[in-house]
Amino acid sequence: MKQHIEEFLVQHQGQADSISVTHILDETQYYQARKGTADPYSIGTTEGFFLEVQTDGVKVYGGAPSAQQLPALFETLQARAKALKPHQLIDFSNQNLPQTSGHYQSAKSCAETLSPRAIQDALCEYSHTLLNGGLFASDASCFQIHRESFSMHSSGAVITQTMDASALHLSATAEKDGETQTRSNGFKSLQVPIEHQFQDAKDACVRIREQALELINAENCPNTTLDLVLAPDQLYLQVHESIGHPLELDRILGDERNYAGFSFINLEDIGTLTYGSPLLNVTFDPSAASEMASYGFDDTGLKAEPLHIIKDGQLVRALGGSDSQYRCDVPGVACARQTAWNRAPIDRMANLNIEPGSSTFDEIIASIENGIYMETNRSWSIDDYRRKFQFGAEYARLIKNGKLGAVVKNPNYRGTTLPFWHSLSHVGNADTKKPWGTLWCGKGEPNQVVRVGHAVPVCAFRGVEVFGGAA
Ligand SMILES: [Zn+2]
Repeated sequence: MKQHIEEFLVQHQGQADSISVTHILDETQYYQARKGTADPYSIGTTEGFFLEVQTDGVKVYGGAPSAQQLPALFETLQARAKALKPHQLIDFSNQNLPQTSGHYQSAKSCAETLSPRAIQDALCEYSHTLLNGGLFASDASCFQIHRESFSMHSSGAVITQTMDASALHLSATAEKDGETQTRSNGFKSLQVPIEHQFQDAKDACVRIREQALELINAENCPNTTLDLVLAPDQLYLQVHESIGHPLELDRILGDERNYAGFSFINLEDIGTLTYGSPLLNVTFDPSAASEMASYGFDDTGLKAEPLHIIKDGQLVRALGGSDSQYRCDVPGVACARQTAWNRAPIDRMANLNIEPGSSTFDEIIASIENGIYMETNRSWSIDDYRRKFQFGAEYARLIKNGKLGAVVKNPNYRGTTLPFWHSLSHVGNADTKKPWGTLWCGKGEPNQVVRVGHAVPVCAFRGVEVFGGAA
C-alpha cells in the first residue's frame, strides 16, 4: 500500500500544485449483553484512499476504494478543478503545505489481548451483577475502535497514525409503580484498551444498581433556582455543546448552517470576547494521554499541539483547521478530521478540556448554602446558534448549608451560554478532573461522526434554573 502511494506520487509529481494521498483503515467491534445473556457481536471494517489535489489555486478531493483507482481519480479531479476555476470562491495558492513528518500511536491494541469470547463473558457477568437486588433491566455493552492511517504529501511530509479506543456502557433500570429510573456509567469512552475499562467495572456495577434503586424511591428535583455543581460526566457535554460547537470556525463561517447549525460567535469576537468568568480556562489538547480524540497530526497534516482556546475567561482562538484559518485569517488549531476515507476533513473539536482550578470537591460543596449536585448526562438540547440550552442528568443530590443531602430524581437545568459560563464560581482541582468523551459527534453534509474527548474538573455555577420531571 505504501509503495503504491509513493509510486503514484512520483508518477504525478509536477502535474498539480500539490497532491496528498491518505490511506485509512477503520475497524469497529461492538459487543452487548442484557440481563446476563450475550447478543451476537459485530465487527465492521472499511478501508480506502482519500486524494486531495490543488491545481491553479483550486482544491478538489475524492475517495478511491483501491490504490489502482487513484490515477483515474486524479484525472477526474484535475478536470473538476479546471471546470470549477471560473467559479472559485477561495484561491488556495498561497496556503502553507504540510512539511512535518511524524508518527502517532495510542496505547496497544486490545484486540491482541482479549478474545471476543472473553469480552462477551465479562459483559454477561456485568449485566448479571447489575440486575441483582430486583432491578428491572440491565445493559453492558462496549465498542472497540481501531484506526490506521498513512498519508504522503507531494511536499514530502509522511505521517503514520494508529489509534485504539474503547467505550464501555453499563446501566441498570429500576421500576416502581409503572415508573422507571435508569442509572449508568455515562458510556465511558477513552483511547485505552477495553481491558483497562474492565478493571473497575465490577465495582461500578454495584454502585450503579444501588443508585438506580435510590432514584426510584427519591423525590423529584425541585423547580427553582439553585447553585449548581456539575460532575465531569455531565460537565463534559456542557463544554462540548456550549463551548466546542459555537467555536468551530466552519460554523462561524456558515458552512454548517443547513445541517449542524450556526453560531452566536462572530469572527470579531475571537480575541476580544469575554466568554466566562476569570476562572474559565479551556484548552485544545490532542496530546492528552488516553483521551478519546488524541492524535499527533490532524487529517490535513497539521501538527497538533496543546493551545488555550479560552484563557482566564477570554476567547483567544477558535477551533478551525488550516483551510478555515486561511479563509478568515484568525488563529485556530490542528483540528480538521475526516470520519472515513471517503469524507473530507472538516473542523472538529478533538480533545477540548477545562484546566483544573484550586478547589477540592469538599471545599466546593462547603461553599454552597442552597444548591444541587448533578452527575451523568441523560439528555441535552441546544439551539442552532448554541445560545440557549437545557440538560438532564441521571442522578442528583441537594446541597444544604455546605453539605450533600437528599438524592433527587429527574434533575434538569437550563440556561444561556455566556451568562452560564460567567456564573462559574469554583473550578475543582486536578483530583476532581476526569477524562470523558463520546464516539458520536455528528456534523457535515454528508454526515460525519467522529470521536471527541473532554477532560474536565468538577465545577460550580451560581444561580442556575433547575427543574424536575413530571410529578
Ligand atoms: Zn457534537
